[in-house]
Amino acid sequence: MPPESASERPPGVKPLEEASPRTGSGLDTPVQYLKGVGPRWVKPLEKLGLFTVRDVLHHLPRRYEDRRNIPPIRELRPGQWATVRGVVDRFEGRPTRRGMVVLRATLRDRTGSVTLTWFNQPWIRRQLEGYDGEIFAYGQVKEGDYGYEIHSPEYELIGDEENEDFARIIPVYPLTEGVSQKTVRRAVLSAVQGYLQGVEDPLPSSLLRKYDLQPLDWSLREIHQPSSEEHRLAARRRLVFEEFFYLQLTLAMRRAESQIEAGITFPVTALLEGRPVSVPPGEPASNLFLEEGRVSELASLPLWDQVRRMLPFELTGAQKRVIEEVWRDMERPHPMNRLVQGDVGAGKTAVAACAMLAAVRGGYQAALMAPTEILAEQHAAGLARLFDLVGIEVVLLVGKQTATQRRKALEKTRTGQAAIAVGTHAIIQSDVEFARLGLVVIDEQHRFGVLQRAALREKGAGNPDVLVMTATPIPRTLTMALFGDLDVSVIEELPPGRKPIRTYWKPSGQRAEVMEGVRKLVEGGKQAYIVCPMVSESEKMQAQAAEELYRDLVAGTFRDLRVGLLHGQMKPKDKEEVMERFRAHELDVLVSTTVIEVGVDVPNATAMVIEDANRFGLSQLHQLRGRVGRGADQSFCVLVADARTEDARSRMAILQETTDGFKIAEEDLRLRGPGELIGTRQSGNLDFKIADLVIDGKMLEVARQAAMEVVAKDPHLAAPSMKRVAERLREERSDLAVLATS
Ligand code: ADP
Ligand code: MG
Repeated sequence: MPPESASERPPGVKPLEEASPRTGSGLDTPVQYLKGVGPRWVKPLEKLGLFTVRDVLHHLPRRYEDRRNIPPIRELRPGQWATVRGVVDRFEGRPTRRGMVVLRATLRDRTGSVTLTWFNQPWIRRQLEGYDGEIFAYGQVKEGDYGYEIHSPEYELIGDEENEDFARIIPVYPLTEGVSQKTVRRAVLSAVQGYLQGVEDPLPSSLLRKYDLQPLDWSLREIHQPSSEEHRLAARRRLVFEEFFYLQLTLAMRRAESQIEAGITFPVTALLEGRPVSVPPGEPASNLFLEEGRVSELASLPLWDQVRRMLPFELTGAQKRVIEEVWRDMERPHPMNRLVQGDVGAGKTAVAACAMLAAVRGGYQAALMAPTEILAEQHAAGLARLFDLVGIEVVLLVGKQTATQRRKALEKTRTGQAAIAVGTHAIIQSDVEFARLGLVVIDEQHRFGVLQRAALREKGAGNPDVLVMTATPIPRTLTMALFGDLDVSVIEELPPGRKPIRTYWKPSGQRAEVMEGVRKLVEGGKQAYIVCPMVSESEKMQAQAAEELYRDLVAGTFRDLRVGLLHGQMKPKDKEEVMERFRAHELDVLVSTTVIEVGVDVPNATAMVIEDANRFGLSQLHQLRGRVGRGADQSFCVLVADARTEDARSRMAILQETTDGFKIAEEDLRLRGPGELIGTRQSGNLDFKIADLVIDGKMLEVARQAAMEVVAKDPHLAAPSMKRVAERLREERSDLAVLATS
């Protein structure tokens, strides 16, 4: 079969192991030839994406049922996930008020009975009513009105021929409508029995030995038909490794590529020593962007001295270390790709400013891009204040500027009069021209879509250095999976003198008291944010909710206070005006949606009330409360939430107990998965078949280590032992390119 055969596979269907042609192995045999499958099951199996024997072998169980140990129904306890076995009778179908039909059935064994409940699935009754054999049912036991219940259990009829499967650990496979567990199990069993000898391991044996991994054929057998829990885990470990390994190889190769790419060499050492530097076209740097006199004298001070002139505070140890890491990158002749992580308020802006200072003194321009216009303006204003002290001009480039303002700003950027430009992402897409762009700082990277290096290159003098900053602490595992091609610095220390925000959790019944508390603070001269409930994903609905809350407060509790409203549907100009009035303390209270989430900095605001807090993710709540606690005074955050479930209660408790964004992010990842943490669009790229970022962090690290070692020795994967891995990667790369850039 020609190598192209793999591309005939319908889109979206991807085997775990690359479908490289291995004539004679039999793995390309269509499913219908599997023993016991037959033509009638072909369509249903194909619906699951199972076309060939190889696909079937790589269709991995979602979970297992240990049928060696099925509890008698009498021993079930609420909360427990269990498989039970019994006979079903007593069906009862009842319409609910919402027009659904609830089906209740009773499952009995010799020791007792439990109620099985399904919603709106009438066909279940058709299948089960009149069936007098036993079934297995699987689900979580809950306390219901009439004793224990299992809601929407998975179930399976126990036929006579099934008895051979009984009393073993049984794999449970992902299904789709029209395919039964039994069919899939039969297909897999037959594939395992008849075709495993055709499976060749893509991983070289040296790697298996080094990382103590089992061979592929053994692993596939044990993942489908575990002979013991220990073997199953060993099999899983190997498959997880393989999945991570391909991802990490791609990232490592991309990283390696960027490290041989030519970039700008900033003369950092000379700048640190205060030696004069000359920049590429032969001009002294101090003449490129700066005026004569005071300024050029300043520009020749050793770099740290300039930093001290510029910043109104002493840098923390962590900031200094990260700045040094960044400067070291800038001095290397390859483009920098560094991600700086730091909790809210860790002081990332100062790090960015130091990087930009070095770039400018090295003879280049720097650009800073923020995710919103409000933030861009705030950054521009803040940075202009700092850079003015060292004689460097900062311009703002945002869409809503007047034509004249914009023309001036563009002109300054084009000629190099402005050494620093601040704007939104649009900077790299639009008509902005730079005299000599050498450094790009991206604030809040995870909110940006694609970072187009190519677009940057067009703007830059060569291949500009890129510094990405994120305020959402990302658990280490996610960082490795998402940004494994970047170097990472962490600012793990907050500036001194910060009082940790005191966080309280109040049920909605105590809302009036909470608002009274806000009033007291306001009367004492402080300001407060009230974040309204997240009613839906839609900005419009959000805005309505905010308006409603605003009207309520203005008409009632806060009648005599100065209250403002901010939401995403307002015109940029109006948003700006409200923010400005709040900043200037012409408003006491700001009612808003989550648009204030990132970066807004009003030190006099010391209270944050978050309504319906259990609707938000932990990290998002942490981000939100990071808007307060930015001054010297004690700040407060009140989470108003009726947390009814154990889960919701523990989430509120975590926020009360810790202000460590990394810990919170780990919890978020554990509780809600990567989608909630980084946005579903990106996490789509992290849809692993078997690996799980939450539990397989260690393995990810091992795979990363392995991938880096391989790439360091063999950057093009040219070694014969890596042939199959390289083939597989070539097939996957287009897919993974998305991952790297989003
Ligand atoms: P973030 O990391 O969230 O972007 P910022 O850079 O906005 O944080 O800094 C938060 C606040 O802390 C700012 O008001 C900034 O001036 C201040 N700050 C930053 N670094 C220090 C420091 N080393 N000492 C004192 N204050 C600092
Ligand atoms: Mg910031």
